[in-house]
Amino acid sequence: MYLADLTKPEIERLLSELGEPKYRAGQVWDWLNRGARPQEMTNLPAALREKLSAISYGGVEIERKLFSEKDGTVKYLFRLEDENLVEGVLMRYHYGNTLCLSTQIGCNMGCKFCASTLDGCVRDLRPGEMLGQIFAVERDEPAKEAGHRTVTNIVLMGSGEPLDNYDNVVAFLNRVTAQDGLRISPRNISVSTCGIVPKIAQFLQDAPHVTLSISLHAHDDETRSNMMPINKVYPIDSVIAAAKNYADKTGRRVVFEYALIGGVNASLSDAEALAKKLRGILCHVNLIPLNPVPERGLAGVSRKEADQFCAWLTERNISATVRREMGTDIEGACGQLRRRILHEIRGEN
Ligand code: SAH
Repeated sequence: MYLADLTKPEIERLLSELGEPKYRAGQVWDWLNRGARPQEMTNLPAALREKLSAISYGGVEIERKLFSEKDGTVKYLFRLEDENLVEGVLMRYHYGNTLCLSTQIGCNMGCKFCASTLDGCVRDLRPGEMLGQIFAVERDEPAKEAGHRTVTNIVLMGSGEPLDNYDNVVAFLNRVTAQDGLRISPRNISVSTCGIVPKIAQFLQDAPHVTLSISLHAHDDETRSNMMPINKVYPIDSVIAAAKNYADKTGRRVVFEYALIGGVNASLSDAEALAKKLRGILCHVNLIPLNPVPERGLAGVSRKEADQFCAWLTERNISATVRREMGTDIEGACGQLRRRILHEIRGEN
């Protein structure tokens, strides 16, 4: 049991077992939704703080922090209580700040272009460890005005496959969106998946109506299977059908992520075929010039080529934008910072 993971009914049960009056549960719950540790829960009696301190917390600390002089993006390396490391990125937009957070330590999905998966998945993150990434950032950079949050938007696009850690991710989302939790609107949350089709259908039932992002990266099975092993289990048409169903049922557009890779998926005929595949679906295509991962030997495209590809899609009535590149001076693709620091710690190069 970890304090940071507990739901309100679980806190109530715990406090009643500790012989505390019921209102104490509400106090502890409020503190936990601010990421406070037992010793910081100043309106509790010292004896209760001691009892709570004896229980494992399951939180997150900041191990390293890289600040982009270019655009204010901050890349965080978080340390978990078992000394594992995960990454998060805080990006600044005109509407607020978006935290990109991790859902697993590493990843099992094996996508060829992704640094997070190179050493597989060490373990799933618990709900409290996903919340803890938000709390660590807000502790590091408190909101300027009382009653406001530093983190206004969340994307589950750091290391890990959210739908491969399904129950913990749903528990996290419930807590983040709950009125007596962090009260972040589902509209401000995106969950990105490589396309685990049965879980997408289940997610529609279990999760509040967050934005669903699908990592597509290709328009045909051959190219997609070469890059993303999951496509051999759930082929592209089944992924697109699941996305369409999500959009139809929620009335919200699905975002397709498409990393442009030179010589692989970035030509005019690729744009034509992609537009054809997505016709009639309430969707938006987010184009990302591939962040080259040296271990993988795949090339990105220039900004000009990305803009050209974007124009080819929009000319075909597919809504598309090129993702603004942020924090390019502080460590590229997800998983790279963690790998570099792990190598440093282990004395490799
Ligand atoms: N597992 C989830 C979420 C994590 S990855 C998913 O697959 O969607 C977040 C996004 O970054 C995904 O779209 C992923 O395909 C993309 N990505 C991973 N490595 C990348 C790279 N080197 N360059 C550009 N995008 C990358």
